[in-house]
Amino acid sequence: MTRADLTVRGGGIFGLSVAWEAVQRGARVRLIESERIGAGASGGLVGALAPHTPEGWNPVKAFQLASLLAAEDWWRAVEAASGLSAGYARAGRLQGLADAAAVALARARGLAAETLWQGRAHWRVVPATGADWEPPAASGFLIHDTLSARVHPQQALAALTAALSAKAAEIVLGEAEEQGAVIWAIGAAGLEALSRDLGRKAGQGVKGQAVAVHLPGHAARPQLFIDGLHIVPHADGSVAIGSTTENQWTAARTTDAQADALLARARDLVPLLRDAPEVARWAGLRPRAASRGPLLGAWPGRPGHFIANGGFKIGFGIAPEAARLICDLVLDGRDGIPAEFAP
Ligand SMILES: Cc1cc2nc3c(=O)[nH]c(=O)nc-3n(C[C@H](O)[C@H](O)[C@H](O)COP(=O)(O)OP(=O)(O)OC[C@H]3O[C@@H](n4cnc5c(N)ncnc54)[C@H](O)[C@@H]3O)c2cc1C
Repeated sequence: MTRADLTVRGGGIFGLSVAWEAVQRGARVRLIESERIGAGASGGLVGALAPHTPEGWNPVKAFQLASLLAAEDWWRAVEAASGLSAGYARAGRLQGLADAAAVALARARGLAAETLWQGRAHWRVVPATGADWEPPAASGFLIHDTLSARVHPQQALAALTAALSAKAAEIVLGEAEEQGAVIWAIGAAGLEALSRDLGRKAGQGVKGQAVAVHLPGHAARPQLFIDGLHIVPHADGSVAIGSTTENQWTAARTTDAQADALLARARDLVPLLRDAPEVARWAGLRPRAASRGPLLGAWPGRPGHFIANGGFKIGFGIAPEAARLICDLVLDGRDGIPAEFAP
């Protein structure tokens, strides 16, 4: 068999996205996943492709915007190659506003978004209508943004895996020889390995739990964002509710009473969820870099090895752009990665 140009380690959203970007550029790719596709943070339920607040512009926000704007065509290409749905839809998002000060701030951000989002998406203050699919809004107003989208995480990974196979990428579960340049996209384990190499903390896993209920018929509706809680309707009839943020845990993949509390809170805030039966709960470790931003670039002191990590809470949202930038560097020798993202 022909040798690969590139080995990608890790079958989560980062590794699969990097491999997909690389095969589209004509590279021969070997992807090695030590356990199973979606064994890490990417195998969950939520899949919100949610934007930053449109103010205090910085390289991370610009990068995230580029990724969210690229997402639709990117996922359509994955769906076309695989014949599978990734569950992508840009259905927007609603957030309630508590008081007059919050309304004024949201309006100012809406003006900023007109420039920062280049007219390609809007952030608008709209009156609450009291409809059954709305977040609480004591001021009587909501933010409606048209940039937010979603994928179904497990469907998205399955579609990417099938798209890679359709393009003759080799996917190995277990171990295999590394060939060509090696891109490490192994999530929380990668941050530990990098920390050991550098002799300082490069990041760590942060546990999160999520729950899904069955409430069909809401797929075209916007996702809701209520004080840090994401409520995301999917085309399969599930509505995902996420997530906890836990810096300490004993079992990374086990759900507990915190998932019960998450569900109870969502049901309290959105009455429509009260009678919707729970269909799944899930826990995983988000890879959080010490910088809290993405970690992209050469692995210090390991020639030919590169890192694609640091997705933290927005890994699905930034994967297309992360894949583009790391492939520019590794395959084409073009380094357009913001200095802030250097490992
Ligand atoms: C509860 C929860 C909710 C979330 N909600 C959202 C959301 O709504 N929107 C969003 O954008 N993001 C969300 N995230 C964050 C997102 O899931 C992560 O940023 C993303 O999954 C990280 O992907 P990754 O590919 O870097 O890592 P992972 O998905 O962890 O993948 C790493 C893979 O590498 C494999 N591996 C480990 N060691 C090796 C090795 N030596 N060789 C080969 N393979 C190896 C692992 O088995 C694993 O499959 C959420 C996370 C959690 C936990």
